[in-house]
Amino acid sequence: MTDSDLDSDPTPADLAEQVRTGALRLHELEDYTDADTAAEARRRLLETETGADLETVGDYGFPAEEADSAIENMIGAAQVPMGVVGPVPIDGGASEGDYYLPLATTEGALLASVNRGLSVIRAAGGANARVTKSGMTRAPVFHVDGVVEAAETVEWIEDADNLETLREAAESTTSHGELLGIEPYVVGDSVYLRFTYDTKDAMGMNMATIATGEACEIVERETPASLVALSGNLCSDKKPAAINAVEGRGRSVTADVVISGDLVEERLHTTADAIAEANTRKNLIGSAKAGSLGFNAHAANVVGAAFLATGQDEAQVVEGANAITTMDAREREVTESSRSEESENSEREREDGTTDLYASVSFASLEVGTVGGGTKLPTQSEALDVVGLRGGGDPPGSNADALAEVIAVGALAGELSLLAALASRHLSSAHQDLGR
Ligand code: NAP
Repeated sequence: MTDSDLDSDPTPADLAEQVRTGALRLHELEDYTDADTAAEARRRLLETETGADLETVGDYGFPAEEADSAIENMIGAAQVPMGVVGPVPIDGGASEGDYYLPLATTEGALLASVNRGLSVIRAAGGANARVTKSGMTRAPVFHVDGVVEAAETVEWIEDADNLETLREAAESTTSHGELLGIEPYVVGDSVYLRFTYDTKDAMGMNMATIATGEACEIVERETPASLVALSGNLCSDKKPAAINAVEGRGRSVTADVVISGDLVEERLHTTADAIAEANTRKNLIGSAKAGSLGFNAHAANVVGAAFLATGQDEAQVVEGANAITTMDAREREVTESSRSEESENSEREREDGTTDLYASVSFASLEVGTVGGGTKLPTQSEALDVVGLRGGGDPPGSNADALAEVIAVGALAGELSLLAALASRHLSSAHQDLGR
């Protein structure tokens, strides 16, 4: 197909016909027209060939060319409803103040449930959140003759001067990324090197892959190892893997809150003890029996919806589900001053056994960014504006840390709300049984 076979300004129908006859391939349309017309031509073709009506798919609200680094063969947009929860006060390592969190989902009642949890957290004075570990990983796999060459390779990697050489090579490919370390693993005649990077505000998977590729050239030159694959699955990207749950990947982040027993009863219609029991039997024992990596109720609901809204890599919800929820009934701490302020009523409640609730969610591997990838797309960057975390942070890395903290607090609210619903239902049915 040459340019002269088409009008200088081909219509979508002309282009669709060229694809139908085989003169043009589906992915070549942007070579002959602008991105929106190319998308329309693909819709025309599909409508003819499949009978589908793509009017709504084609009714998107941003220039198609702004999505060119995010999608090939574009035909339109999958429009997922987006809502918002919050505001919630967060005392974080990187986040500070009141935050709204946009969530995109098709799961009815999710936002209502998360918002119920957030309103309780707000009434309790807000949540704490901290990123306790951060590092994006890439683990290439090398072939060696056997364990002797494997040991030689590991010894070379672990030499401080050689590590420095690899650091310089890796960091020559990026102005933001920093190599934090390399962990070697040997299995027979395979050597895996798990590279970990501080990728600042980028989720960092492309950054880490490019940097690791550069370092691998040196490993191949200086050791007996020859590269088989730049990713050897020990990274481990987009697969359920214990290494991420134990070692972390992306951000390891925890959110927690203490909620007074009065608030638990008033707003969640249950008790701290009942919620703690539901959490232990469901999230801890039940998950252990199931052999799960996720010891939580539905953390992936908030992670997935926040990822869709803010342009994260959706497939990394797999690692984002590596979260442990804890709920403990705590004896209320009574200070001298609070003791004197206590009403007779609350004194009586304490004697009745009212306890406060400590609730936490700890994500091992929440992979988020506020620059790069899908975060640049129009609706996604608007959503990041809602959280106040669009683009690079000051210092670099602080925006992605803060986003991880806000998502963790959202997930904490979801856990609280669902566990409370389960616990209150259990309590009410128990009361019913007792009443009979
Ligand atoms: P990216 O869009 O490839 O790169 C973002 C770039 O932004 C960085 O490389 C950095 O450039 C620049 N940057 C500007 N300000 C920054 C700041 N404050 N902090 C950090 N970087 C800043 O994004 P990525 O996060 O590396 O990769 C995300 C993409 O990878 C997603 O689209 C995802 O779908 C895809 N992905 C790739 C793989 C893979 O194996 N390649 C696997 C899974 C997902 P400099 O590096 O020049 O500093």
